[in-house]
Amino acid sequence: MSTRPEALFPLFAALETLPGVGSKTAKALANMHIESPKDLMLTLPTSGIDRRLRPSIAGFAAPGVVTVKVRIERHIPARTKGRPYRVDVSDSTTTFQLVFFHARTDWLERQLPVGEERIVSGKLEVFDGLAQMVHPDHILKEELASDLPAFEPVYPLTQGVTQKLMAKATKATVELCPQLAEWVDPDLKAKEHWPDWNEAIAKAHSPDGSLEILPTAPARTRLAYDELFAHQMTLALARGQNRRRKGRPSLANGTLQKRVLDALPFTPTQAQQRAVTEIHDDMASPFRMNRLLQGDVGSGKTFVALMALLAAVEAGGQGAMMSPTEILARQHLQGLRPLAEKAGVVIEILTGRDTGSERKAKLAALAAGDIAILVGTHALFQKDVLFQDLRLAVVDEQHRFGVSQRLELGRKSAATDVLVMTATPIPRSLSLAQYGDMDVSVLDEKPPGRTPITTALVSSGRLSEVVDRLETSLNEGRQAYWVCPLVEESETLDLAAAEDRFKNLRSVFGEGRVGLVHGQMPSAQKDAAMAAFVAGETQCLVATTVIEVGVDVPNASIMVIERAETFGLAQLHQLRGRVGRGATASTCLLMYQAPLTESGRRRLEILRDSDDGFRIAEEDLAMRGAGDVLGTAQSGMPRFRIADLERQTGLMAMAQKDARRLIEMDPTLQSDRGKAARTLLWLLEQDRAIKMISVG
Ligand code: ADP
Ligand code: MG
Repeated sequence: MSTRPEALFPLFAALETLPGVGSKTAKALANMHIESPKDLMLTLPTSGIDRRLRPSIAGFAAPGVVTVKVRIERHIPARTKGRPYRVDVSDSTTTFQLVFFHARTDWLERQLPVGEERIVSGKLEVFDGLAQMVHPDHILKEELASDLPAFEPVYPLTQGVTQKLMAKATKATVELCPQLAEWVDPDLKAKEHWPDWNEAIAKAHSPDGSLEILPTAPARTRLAYDELFAHQMTLALARGQNRRRKGRPSLANGTLQKRVLDALPFTPTQAQQRAVTEIHDDMASPFRMNRLLQGDVGSGKTFVALMALLAAVEAGGQGAMMSPTEILARQHLQGLRPLAEKAGVVIEILTGRDTGSERKAKLAALAAGDIAILVGTHALFQKDVLFQDLRLAVVDEQHRFGVSQRLELGRKSAATDVLVMTATPIPRSLSLAQYGDMDVSVLDEKPPGRTPITTALVSSGRLSEVVDRLETSLNEGRQAYWVCPLVEESETLDLAAAEDRFKNLRSVFGEGRVGLVHGQMPSAQKDAAMAAFVAGETQCLVATTVIEVGVDVPNASIMVIERAETFGLAQLHQLRGRVGRGATASTCLLMYQAPLTESGRRRLEILRDSDDGFRIAEEDLAMRGAGDVLGTAQSGMPRFRIADLERQTGLMAMAQKDARRLIEMDPTLQSDRGKAARTLLWLLEQDRAIKMISVG
């Protein structure tokens, strides 16, 4: 099935095929990312209005929406211009007024003929002791009363789209939905009491009451599950494809690793040992490894990576390690080289800075197998970089790449085992959404001997005090990072702020003691600035967020972050993780510009009170939502229309399990359920998955 099933055609037709939708409305709907009836189908009401018919307004606690049958008693036209037009009406026990501003008399007389009965529904208020309904939402003849649902769904709107239009267009869409075969595991469906898909769609758009608007309503949960299941099917297919690739068991004998372990200045933590074992087992298996190593800053991922790389070398192959920035690549080289040399393993670096004959020489050595481990930046994956036998690719700080980029990388390095490392502890539901195609190792234990970091919030009004205290600390031989914020996402302004701070601190502390590093510096200058800081020549390093990930200078024990309120919590946690790496007690000052908003303060306080990356991530997710936590644009995080990752954590895990099981039983989706799942993939436009099942 490499084309969309015909049954779905009407749902993918133009919006204009729906009653009441013209090109103008279609354009307006596009603002809400609604481009086809299918999108409309997935746009669920956000609330509802109780429009059940009452016998009378008597006893109703106004203000609120009521629906009653009334008899029209008398029209009272506006006496002077600008005054409202009033209509006296009576229900079974009392009287009240309908009120209209700027109304056309003839229209009102036709709608509300004196002596006749009508159903009216709208907001009832008490004004000057008189009950009144201003501009009723609905005026209906009794025989048409059934047009008014007892519980009217309220949809999200955009300029140019009314509730009435949404209701009408959605109703037509629901009628277009074809009968589809079931893709949900029957046991799961029975256990959760989920309705069929068609029933769920119909119910979600015609809720019976406010409980059915909640994400916990069975119809809604089912539709959310469908969305997560489709996403997890994509990831499971990718995983399955990976695993079916021809095996390249990398059998390590441990000789090189032993030499490194003997030379190591520390004992690996339990968590590190467990991760190393998991990785080695994966590498030794005939399947291709696609594993995520997740660990908070400072949990010691580099050591685990080295053990994996050495296993690749022991097995007679090569290893590569890719970092997002040049600084990090160099630092990895510095950290790994002494250990690698102890084991007699040749390690080299390749970045965008390598050009000409030097680059050529490195490429030749790589192709000949004379370089065992190559670290570097994206430059590693350029076309002309050929390994003799690449067995393992380690990708560091993966959260900067999205799902699709990773799947791309997987295609490129055909049979190579892949180990992705991320320092961003992300909540489980997000982790499953983003890394659901991978197997996961977690470093949930920090190496011993760290001194805790004291975190304090300081208003920017106290800048000079901060600078004074910092000077005292520098005089004691301590080192500090000073992080300047991203100003309005403009790199130029960003830079200007950092340069200003640099000049300012230099004039206070003295020229030679302050360094500057930022993203737009030429690499050589960047390295020089970093090297001077590592060597302790400069004591205070002014930086933009380029130091966010990975940089390791144990003597640095002070972190100042300006405008901390503009950063994400995870990012602040990362930045703070740059200190607290040595024996000295460390300090992190979060400077903010007063006044802080309530939530801004709460966020910074979470950070002050906790250094548990996972807890911080959970809180961040709860406060900001998935897109913000990961930075939607960068994260490649899928957007879900119905599923709510913050609150439906359990569903994602269920979807992953179910999807993996289905793919294991039916890798090419040929069974009845497999075929139904294909339709779901088409329905929810899982293009990557469709490509995989089409190619087979
Ligand atoms: P991250 O997970 O943030 O990449 P690193 O691998 O950079 O962490 O390790 C942080 C620091 O901790 C490094 O200086 C490293 O040498 C040290 N380290 C790693 N593992 C241990 C351990 N088991 N015991 C003591 N120190 C360790
Ligand atoms: Mg690291």
